[in-house]
Amino acid sequence: MITRPCPRCQKELEWTEYEGQRVMRCATCRGHLVPAPRLRAIKRSDQLGADALMEEAARDFKGPTPIAASCPACKVRMRPEPIPVPGMDVHMDVCRSCQMVWLDGGELALLQLAYEQTPEYQEIAERRRRARELEACPERSARFQEDLSRLPDEPSLVGEIVHELVTEIATPRHRWGVWSAFRGLR
Ligand SMILES: [Zn+2]
Ligand SMILES: [Zn+2]
Repeated sequence: MITRPCPRCQKELEWTEYEGQRVMRCATCRGHLVPAPRLRAIKRSDQLGADALMEEAARDFKGPTPIAASCPACKVRMRPEPIPVPGMDVHMDVCRSCQMVWLDGGELALLQLAYEQTPEYQEIAERRRRARELEACPERSARFQEDLSRLPDEPSLVGEIVHELVTEIATPRHRWGVWSAFRGLR
């Protein structure tokens, strides 16, 4: 598998698994390079609970990085997109041509913690809970799977994924919840 140099410390990134998704990670600065469609899968995953994410953010987040990273693949300066955590100046760096997102140490955990406060995530968590209940009942489970198969396929362009993330997290009525979740980190 191809590896790339870390855009912050130039050390070779290594492939690793994060919440069931293959991503590249820098062992030194603990940043992650994530193909955009996998970012969506990661944010929705509940493999890492809030405690584990909070621990990761507290350990790996070293404060805001004012200069955008250069894309490890095409070397073009990446575009900073805010991760809307109230009171914190955090950005992910996006390369639209390579469909790659760079997150500095701890930012992947911060992004997920912010996302978990949104109604969309709460709804997913609720659906997951119901699905687990259904596993006990084959007949209802079959009907549920049929309903799921009728849902339209989702687009997977990086612009849409990033826009979706930013707007979901930034909705004003959820700011309080997000803010409360991060109080301990500031
Ligand atoms: Zn690094
Ligand atoms: Zn690129």
